Amino acid sequence: MLKVPLNAEGFFLEAHMKLRPVDFATEGVFMAGLCHFPKFIDEATAQAQAAAGRAATILSRDTLEAEATVASVNPDRCSACHMCETLCAYRAIEVKTINERTGKQAAVVNEALCKGCGACAANCRSSAIDVRGFSAENIVREIAALLD
Ligand code: SF4
Ligand code: SF4
Repeated sequence: MLKVPLNAEGFFLEAHMKLRPVDFATEGVFMAGLCHFPKFIDEATAQAQAAAGRAATILSRDTLEAEATVASVNPDRCSACHMCETLCAYRAIEVKTINERTGKQAAVVNEALCKGCGACAANCRSSAIDVRGFSAENIVREIAALLD
């Protein structure tokens, strides 16, 4: 439900052991306590305070800025194969019904979650995904210019 990773033992896995110890790679979800690993109450309390502090940095803002470089799907090319959905480490892309009348399905990017890593675009066999500013055409033109 939270779309966050587990380690081999079944505990939640933080985004980075030292740099983001109470965060997940998925934005806006934080952890504290025994869901991380078995620990003493003082450790769990300190971690809970850290998680509350991290959550406050988001809740205290009126608006949030999303990444400018995010994936974008051309629904006409998308065959709804679910490959991108499987690959995205941030759970930022999902195949949905985009036209109730025809039942047409296509991948839809959640721009608030997308990190613009390009994994989905590189693996889409239908070439239906571009990362803004890094479309296949742009990259081919850049290579052609370099070769000139
Ligand atoms: S990998 Fe490409 S074709 Fe498959 S669901 Fe994603 S966008 Fe659509
Ligand atoms: S660019 Fe990366 S983060 Fe964004 S939807 Fe594609 S795989 Fe997910």
